[in-house]
Amino acid sequence: QQRFVIVGAGLAGAKAAEALREQGFDGRITLIGAEPHRPYERPPLSKGCLTGSTDRAGVFVHQDGWYAEHDVEVLLGVAATGLDRGAHRVELADGGAIEYDKLLLATGARPRRPPIPGARAPHVRYLRRIEDCESLRDVLGSVSRMAVIGAGWIGLEVTAAARRAGVAVTVLEAARLPLLRVLGPEAAQVFAGLHRDHGVDLRLGVTVSEITPSGVRLGDGGEIAADAVLVGVGAEPEVELALRAGLHVDNGVVVDATLRTGDPDIVAAGDVANAYHPLLGRHVRVEHWANALKQPAVAAAAMLGRDAVYEELPYFYTDQYDLGMEYVGHVEPGGYDQVVFRGDVAARKFIAFWLKGDRVLAGMNVNVWDVVEPIKRLIRAGTPVTSHALADPDRPLEIL
Ligand code: FAD
Repeated sequence: QQRFVIVGAGLAGAKAAEALREQGFDGRITLIGAEPHRPYERPPLSKGCLTGSTDRAGVFVHQDGWYAEHDVEVLLGVAATGLDRGAHRVELADGGAIEYDKLLLATGARPRRPPIPGARAPHVRYLRRIEDCESLRDVLGSVSRMAVIGAGWIGLEVTAAARRAGVAVTVLEAARLPLLRVLGPEAAQVFAGLHRDHGVDLRLGVTVSEITPSGVRLGDGGEIAADAVLVGVGAEPEVELALRAGLHVDNGVVVDATLRTGDPDIVAAGDVANAYHPLLGRHVRVEHWANALKQPAVAAAAMLGRDAVYEELPYFYTDQYDLGMEYVGHVEPGGYDQVVFRGDVAARKFIAFWLKGDRVLAGMNVNVWDVVEPIKRLIRAGTPVTSHALADPDRPLEIL
């Protein structure tokens, strides 16, 4: 009987086990996870779980009994520490070892720790795991002033949750706008306005030189007093296993469009995978939920010796205060000519389109719903559009 091993029991790992069974694999499946929990979803950790509207039971990818019902062996609380490709063997932290016929690396990512004094002090918070979320929720219930370092998605979502809990928040961001690299200045303004309107002290263009027990020290000598500090300065892929095994690693585990590594028996998916995207014509590593949800079906096909290709457009979403947003497409920093808005930007109810020439590269809908599919079609088809038509709310996106 063949044995397929999945390292990493997050969303991608869980969905890969599911996809293998759906695609008819009847051999052994072993899912190895360093965390003590069965696979869970992380988006609620900076949203409902933090504000208390979602409890722990609501985050798991599958019901407890699902793994046994589908004959998936789950090893939790044990990290894979070594990968011997010649012997087709994964070594475990508890001294055990497991042989595989095919292997999926779905080891995800971990928060980046900035190289500044104090960043590793125990009172400094990062948010990736369920335990981080639960202790941060307790913190939000007990402090009055918080500093958030980094105005990325996680920093801003935590800021929104903290404001909801009545905590005064200072956000410290090195760039001149939040989310500048992803959105560019035109759309990033919206998020700056949103947080300022909710009473956030948003400090832009500042550098943090030290995290102290009483707050944060800035590069210009200024001090921000805070009872708690959250750092949200991005994530880095968990590539140690792949690196040590001599796989090609470059901003993640490098895979082709079928999600295969250079080793025919090893594939990668989710946050850890830097995959060639046929539509975009380059490798992209996408750190978003929808990617971890959908790539595993392609990885499973590759493990089964079939040739599926992953060509979904990158998609992500956020919820902050009363703003809900979806974004689809991919734009390199500065890689667009203009942003066209349709709708009421001041009321934060609009769609933004990023254009290169007369083609749409990406779209973001803010408090406007059910438009992702037509936006995807515009991007995929490369339909030539005019900014006038895009901006006109009376022109249905479906017939542009
Ligand atoms: P992970 O979820 O990181 O899972 C990988 C698992 O592998 C981990 O449990 C890890 O412990 C384990 N592992 C690593 N190394 C080993 C090893 N050597 N041995 C065994 N196990 C190992 N995306 C969105 O699109 N929208 C959102 O609103 C959104 N919100 C988010 C909020 C938070 C707080 C976070 C942290 C992420 C959010 N994301 C969001 C991103 C999304 O959650 C990730 O893209 C997704 O979790 C990736 O899934 P994954 O399975 O690839 O990796």
